[in-house]
Amino acid sequence: MIHTSSKSGTLHEESQAYDAHGRANYAVDRGELNAALLNELEGLKNVKLCFNHKLIHADLKKKEVTFEHSLSRSKADRQDVTVPFDLLIGADGAHSVVRYHMMKYVRMDYAQTYIDNLWCEFTIRPRPSADANPNSKFAIDPNHLHIWPSKQGREEMFIAIPSTDGSFTCTLFMPSGSYAELEAHPDRILKFFDTHFPGVSTLIPGSDLVDMFNSNPHLPLISIICSPHHCGSSAVVVGDAAHAMVPFYGQGMNAGLEDVRVLFEMLDKHTTSDSSASEFNPQVAAALNEYTAMRIPDAHAINQLALDNYTEMRSGVVSRTYKLRKSIEEFLYSHCPSLGWATKYSRVSFGNERYSEVVKRSELQGWILGWAAVGLVALPVLVGVWWGRWRWRVAKRSTRFLARKGMGLGTAGAREGWRWLDWF
Ligand SMILES: Cc1cc2nc3c(=O)[nH]c(=O)nc-3n(C[C@H](O)[C@H](O)[C@H](O)COP(=O)(O)OP(=O)(O)OC[C@H]3O[C@@H](n4cnc5c(N)ncnc54)[C@H](O)[C@@H]3O)c2cc1C
Repeated sequence: MIHTSSKSGTLHEESQAYDAHGRANYAVDRGELNAALLNELEGLKNVKLCFNHKLIHADLKKKEVTFEHSLSRSKADRQDVTVPFDLLIGADGAHSVVRYHMMKYVRMDYAQTYIDNLWCEFTIRPRPSADANPNSKFAIDPNHLHIWPSKQGREEMFIAIPSTDGSFTCTLFMPSGSYAELEAHPDRILKFFDTHFPGVSTLIPGSDLVDMFNSNPHLPLISIICSPHHCGSSAVVVGDAAHAMVPFYGQGMNAGLEDVRVLFEMLDKHTTSDSSASEFNPQVAAALNEYTAMRIPDAHAINQLALDNYTEMRSGVVSRTYKLRKSIEEFLYSHCPSLGWATKYSRVSFGNERYSEVVKRSELQGWILGWAAVGLVALPVLVGVWWGRWRWRVAKRSTRFLARKGMGLGTAGAREGWRWLDWF
């Protein structure tokens, strides 16, 4: 749902279906997801959960890791624990310690980029409601991702995503300079919201809005790519540790879950149950090699898509070209399914296609649409030229006929006319 306002200040909402087939991209509360995953893990006999253990060192040759175990909040109350491992899977986020140690053993290419935008979280609280309709607790339509796009030439964006309790988790994305300006002048925060995100201050009362801006952290956004994602048969990174991305495709966590699926497919394919846990295990190495070969093009592709979508969401969502391409693609997707046409967003969000394949197919679709557009402009011109030439030929033939019969313009005049028409 795109939220804008007219020059007179009237608020507008324009629905943007996620997908031509009405499918939605559901939001999940982080805390609830973590709790659900922990419940599942607790039920597995071969899993031991160790909280308050911070990885501080990894020796990938000896296959040993050292954790700092915090027994209490006091700094003095900590002890180092060293444990051996067969395979170290680093799912320790963008600032991964596993990745840091892997770099000492393998020639890893690595690139990190901070975009000049920070993010800050806000909450639209649930509406008190005794209504039987489950949607009545939501202050705005819960079936949409709500976007307040930036105005022409600006970079601020505000989004709101529904949660199951009736609240909306909102995020303000904005250049660091704009944050600094509002931090220095908190009295301008409310006016800023009214100017750039019309209607938000009716959903989050003014004083809450200012409090949330001042008390919630203003955090950076990082994009990381690295290659390879593994080291011999010892270690592998998954999730943000391998490919942290800006959050504008809503695929960060999904890409991490896909990593896990592919990793386990590869381990199942290459290893046997009696695979030895020796220093170098060729079967595990083969699995990790194939994992890296498969995931790197996909990780790089979704990283780039997320950055591209940032530009699209900020301004492209209201551009005519964006809307035209989206409508054509959705029309073809809905009415001509045999063509295999689909929007990039649908392919990424509702299918299992590899991100790198999605990019290739989307480029091909863009190329076809581009040429179709050129054809649409060129066709009337070509038809016009052809029609003109045909008319002249008919006229020429009539003139010749008249000339032969000595009629019409008079023999000399007709011959003159024929010569003139012969030019064409
Ligand atoms: C503003 C924002 C919005 C987002 N929105 C979406 C979205 O809508 N959809 C989506 O799919 N993704 C979204 N993401 C991305 C998503 O949050 C991440 O991709 C996802 O959390 C990555 O999971 P992870 O397990 O790889 O890393 P993390 O979630 O970072 O988890 C890493 C874990 O490792 C632990 N750890 C770190 N260092 C150590 C250490 N030394 N020792 C032991 N443990 C350690 C951390 O405590 C943490 O528990 C968003 C991200 C941001 C910033």
